[in-house]
Amino acid sequence: MTQQHVDTLCVQAGYQPKNGEPRILPIYQSTTYKYESADELGQLFDLSKAGHMYTRISNPTVDCVEKKIAALEGGIAALCTSSGQAASLIAILNITAAGQNFLCGSAIYGGTINLFAVTLKRLNIEVRFFTPDMCDEEIAALIDENTRAIFGETVANPALEIFDIERYAKLAHAHKIPLIIDNTFATPVLCRPFTYGADIVIHSTSKYLDGHACVLGGVIVDSGNFDWAAAGKYPELTEADESYHGVVYTRDFGNAAYITKARVQLMRDMGSTPQPIAAFLLDLGITSLAVRMERHSSNALAVAKYLQQHEKISWIHFPWLPGNKGYELAQKYLPNGSCGVISFGIQGGREAAVRFMDNLKLAQIVVHVADARTCVLHPASTTHRQLTDEQLVDAGISPDLIRFSVGIENVNDIIADIEQALQKA
Ligand SMILES: *Cc1c(COP(=O)(O)O)cnc(C)c1O
Repeated sequence: MTQQHVDTLCVQAGYQPKNGEPRILPIYQSTTYKYESADELGQLFDLSKAGHMYTRISNPTVDCVEKKIAALEGGIAALCTSSGQAASLIAILNITAAGQNFLCGSAIYGGTINLFAVTLKRLNIEVRFFTPDMCDEEIAALIDENTRAIFGETVANPALEIFDIERYAKLAHAHKIPLIIDNTFATPVLCRPFTYGADIVIHSTSKYLDGHACVLGGVIVDSGNFDWAAAGKYPELTEADESYHGVVYTRDFGNAAYITKARVQLMRDMGSTPQPIAAFLLDLGITSLAVRMERHSSNALAVAKYLQQHEKISWIHFPWLPGNKGYELAQKYLPNGSCGVISFGIQGGREAAVRFMDNLKLAQIVVHVADARTCVLHPASTTHRQLTDEQLVDAGISPDLIRFSVGIENVNDIIADIEQALQKA
């Protein structure tokens, strides 16, 4: 069969029932698995035989969702985690150690900034931020012999900056390091970073992939394209892992070395595993992902056009509006639609922003974004409140920025709600 389209994969990939089996992905709510002999189980522990042994490492329900997401991204394998934060953490820790560093685009999710700049720093792993206005030479100057990866977000939350994946993939590969992309806002329906040279993709599945704001989760997807052995700087993948009696991931698992190590070593040790029920709910959400993204995109464009001409709006950032910053990059990387998120400022600054938010009725104030229900947030006073003004600017966030997440309701009702709240702001 020829490669199916991404909207078909959302529905059909992953779980493949055999004759007489349940049509819908069963929830294998079991921590453990039975084997006939101690020897067989021993082979599983040695990684010389494939199979489930303990749900912290793998589970049949979770496995099906991992296969679905790997198919959506065009990767070879995936590892689900209990949250997006766990995915970012494991993706970096898998190939970095104390004394090493990695580069990161400065416009990223506030929680990721904390994880990288505060918590990883305490482990003596250094993050070096760069901005897109730096030239390649300036960014390359941040790379030294201890640099192990470049990290960025396809569409930055909440700055909505579009990451020039192809540019940074070239830069990374010239230095024999991988490009890791957080593809949360774009989703594989709108952008598949592997086709532009990214090597690893991560998601917070808590956003559009689940889509209903009901279940936290994350995922790491491996393209299988990065040659860890040729790079010559990842002994954790190319030399014996003593915690597995000398397994060498590149030798024994080929181009699945990275994702295999992430699972059998880091997930084993850190245990940020999703529950089978969470994986089931995620699978249910992804089934309608392509249809929802179409609606998020068309609704968001209509809301953005309405805001753009409104006299009470002082600025709007939505890279899918012609003339908006990032328009060319948005056309290149997400030509078929935006996500549902728009950022804008209101005449009257911070106070007007707060009055506007308080008067919204349909759109509700929640610490979430990117789900079916229209919602709104003021990052400077909530998700990003721990950042200094300078960090806020680097993250692409002004104090008056309102992050508006357009849902899949009727767009006329969303616009009517915004209109009445603007009149009171
Ligand atoms: C929400 C989010 C995260 C963190 O994910 P959680 O599931 O909340 O842990 C990471 N990256 C991006 C872009 C996000 O929006």
